[in-house]
Amino acid sequence: MPEKLHANLQPMFDAVLARNPGESEFHQAVYEVMLSLTPIAGHRPEYAQWSILKRICEPERQIIFRVPWVTDAGEVQINRGFRVEFNSALGPYKGGLRFHPSVNLSIIKFLGFEQTFKNSLTGMPIGGGKGGSDFDPKGRSEGEIMRFCQSFMTELYRHIGEYTDVPAGDIGVGGRELGYLFGQYKRIVNRWEAGVLTGKGLSWGGSRVRTEATGYGTVFFARDMLAEVGESLDGKRVVVSGSGNVAIYAVEKIHQLGGTVIACSDSSGFVVDEHGLDLDLLKDVKEVRRERLSVYADERGPSARFVPAGSGGEGSSGSGDGGAGIWAVPCDVALPCATQNELPAAGAKALVKNGVRLVAEGANMPTTPDAVAILREAGVLYAPGKASNAGGVATSALEMQQNASRDSWGFEETEARLEEIMGAIHRTCVETADRYGHPGDYVVGANLAGYMKVADAMVAQGVI
Ligand code: NDP
Repeated sequence: MPEKLHANLQPMFDAVLARNPGESEFHQAVYEVMLSLTPIAGHRPEYAQWSILKRICEPERQIIFRVPWVTDAGEVQINRGFRVEFNSALGPYKGGLRFHPSVNLSIIKFLGFEQTFKNSLTGMPIGGGKGGSDFDPKGRSEGEIMRFCQSFMTELYRHIGEYTDVPAGDIGVGGRELGYLFGQYKRIVNRWEAGVLTGKGLSWGGSRVRTEATGYGTVFFARDMLAEVGESLDGKRVVVSGSGNVAIYAVEKIHQLGGTVIACSDSSGFVVDEHGLDLDLLKDVKEVRRERLSVYADERGPSARFVPAGSGGEGSSGSGDGGAGIWAVPCDVALPCATQNELPAAGAKALVKNGVRLVAEGANMPTTPDAVAILREAGVLYAPGKASNAGGVATSALEMQQNASRDSWGFEETEARLEEIMGAIHRTCVETADRYGHPGDYVVGANLAGYMKVADAMVAQGVI
């Protein structure tokens, strides 16, 4: 880890490492929060006590289960399912489900930990949780996806509920998967409980703007950061990594606000399109046909070129340029929207060299700690995902509100609520960072504000 923790906090971090061996992503997420506690470790010691921290770093409940299913060819498959119910101080556990072959307990714990503070920042009454499976949906038929989702829910259903734990989507879990999950839940419990899952389809209890919310919210947040220093998105060149749910709607909102997105990626590589991405074509390739990004470049014509991954780095970052990948494309604004640790030090150096002004995370923990240090050292405006990508879960909470009142709001009304919530999160980050002597530091602002609210609620509720 690039920076040292406060002397009071280091032994606590060491204890978390010893108690959770081998969970590197979880360690990284805890380190980032503990680093942000430094400004209060001296003069607000009540928040940096081990009696609070050791409870916050231990999930309330961790469920791991077998998910058996049968392929189209009749072969029995076994996957592992997870649900980590991290913290319910502020409300029912809330957080998405991820289906990706890399999923393990460390990844689900890091996501659940981050989710707790993100949900706190939204100002909505929701606790933190996360789940998923090491199932790889790529190349699976519709029937296989449906049978997997049904088997997954056949165990998960007993742990969730409107007042207990409310899952949603994440990587590999979109509208199709949520439909199969909800259908199986309904069949098992024999009740229409719309509030048990969010991200539902519009005709069966979903909220308008939920699909767009994380990407739109990230861009609203970036716009507010620029406004804080007297700038705007108008005319800015933007690079967005990923081409999934978050990335696609970040691209859409950037274009609506006058910026131009000139590159995006998937795990096969990245595409650079100097005329600006053609969003209709991108949606058709990724959302409808579920194809690789090279298909976009083939069909777009000479303005676009595809750079395959794997020749010089990892995942969406690989391109044979020292590991900088998509981040070597010169831009004013960079929005990492694919996955954790996708923006490494080499990427941060390339961004800084090319004069990037702002990095706002659409994904969860996409920037490695050394890359964060490089960006902050260079004075780049930087927003951690727990603040900038909170629009998705905030809109999930709006979906819960609509379900509870059996109501359905219009698009403009819901988008206005999202924009208002992102504005409030932005103000909270700025004001908290100012109050604790770190003006302009969104990491300190987000972590301190999110953390203190959870800690206060836990103290009020006693040792449970
Ligand atoms: P999707 O599955 O819709 O899209 C993920 C995108 O990231 C795809 O383009 C995928 O490429 C790429 N990707 C995934 N894993 C890797 C990898 N290991 N290396 C390179 N590229 C990868 O997921 P979402 O858009 O929903 O989620 C993206 C990020 O945003 C995640 O970090 C998620 O936790 C976070 N997030 C999502 C929210 C939501 O509402 N959906 C809310 C808040 C945060 P490919 O298709 O080739 O795999």
